[in-house]
Amino acid sequence: MAQRWIMHIDMDAFFASVEQMDDPSLRGKPVAVGGSHRGVVSAASYEARRFGVRSALPMSTALRLCPQLIVVPGRMRRYAELSHRIMDALREFSPLVEPASVDEAYLDATGLERLFGPVENMGMAVKARVLDVTGGLTCSVGAAPVKFLAKIASDVNKPNGLFILYPEDVAEFLRTLPVGRIPGVGKRSLDALEQLGVRSAGDVLRYSREFWERRFGKGGVHLHERASGVDPREVEPYSEPKSESAENTFAEDTADRALLRRWLLAQAERVGASLRRQRLAGRTITLKVKYADFRSISRSHSLPEPTASTETIFDEACRLLDALTLADKVRLIGVGVSNFGPAHHGPRQLTLPLEIPGRGKGGKESGQDRKGRETTGRGKGRDAGARGADGARSVGTSAEHDEQDGPDGLDGPEELAGPGRQSGQAAPAASIPPPDEKRRKKLDAALDALRDRHGREAVVRGRLFGFDSRKK
Ligand SMILES: [Mg+2]
Repeated sequence: MAQRWIMHIDMDAFFASVEQMDDPSLRGKPVAVGGSHRGVVSAASYEARRFGVRSALPMSTALRLCPQLIVVPGRMRRYAELSHRIMDALREFSPLVEPASVDEAYLDATGLERLFGPVENMGMAVKARVLDVTGGLTCSVGAAPVKFLAKIASDVNKPNGLFILYPEDVAEFLRTLPVGRIPGVGKRSLDALEQLGVRSAGDVLRYSREFWERRFGKGGVHLHERASGVDPREVEPYSEPKSESAENTFAEDTADRALLRRWLLAQAERVGASLRRQRLAGRTITLKVKYADFRSISRSHSLPEPTASTETIFDEACRLLDALTLADKVRLIGVGVSNFGPAHHGPRQLTLPLEIPGRGKGGKESGQDRKGRETTGRGKGRDAGARGADGARSVGTSAEHDEQDGPDGLDGPEELAGPGRQSGQAAPAASIPPPDEKRRKKLDAALDALRDRHGREAVVRGRLFGFDSRKK
């Protein structure tokens, strides 16, 4: 069988490089892309990285590290346009291209030697093509027999790098590879591994697979597998989004619940409209809150039926917020929908109404059924992050997404599960009364049509369904 080759293509400081390409006055200077001085860094130019500025860093910290830092707002539309061009260019090489985020992709290069020559030649050709279609952006390419090694390889000679990890060199490469470089090994896992004296991927193999399984469960098996160079994942050309979310960082921390709800409404509208456009619907609504001290919590609730309705998303988000005792002033709030399933059409099975239709929305008893889930730190889905960045266009919002080139990027959503990791959702609670849901669908459709015709700003929903009546 032909040697399996996976390529990982990663744009170099993508957002920042785009800004430097489009505005020559920014070239050679420390640049950070971010929504506002209150948000976080979405991307940092290499000049800024020299000062320790990197993605996900609070902008205030970044400015302290590098006072001459030039902060520019993100332009998601421009990045998306270039991203499409890059992905199209990659598809000229192989039909098996999997966009992993706005600025990186996997490409299955197995068996393409006959067309493009040895894999290093193909790597050079890919880089040249990307440079060409973007009008001057560089990327780093890694090639290896499996996905996770390809990703690590693309980082080896960054920026503008090319690194080929040949099958015969994999064992030696892994022997000394810091274990934290294995995707899924986060900070918490590192502490546990350190206690076992495990610093490199090679060290992992000193213990048996069974040992890792006993110790860390599925995450342990995963770790042992990766440390052995095994990654069965295929390059998946069609990636379905797994979640849709929106979030905003405030210009000033706030504890004003009415204000928080107002933001939730705008976010629910953004998320709902986007879901409807993609004909998606999700069962799980997640509220995310980041406090003034950057501690971040999220609460989720699952509905019996998937929804794409703005009002339902908003209602659920408000209930999650109502059930929350705010520990501090709030810096960021966001809402997401995940757990996608088919939006039901036609007659639906009757569920026992646990709440009485027609009651005031604010008056529902919701606490009992709603065991929120609390997680600290990061761990959102890729898509959630990328969509969140969409808000970077409006005033006072910030983007937090996957534009991470450094080891930060390895703290992914699939962080190795240590003891105490929480997962799963709260039990389904009361369903939305069908007549209500029907009305909501109608309203959504009408407003989506208005928005299509007159633009996003044309629809200010709060005025239409009595936003202020929700105030406590
Ligand atoms: Mg990148």
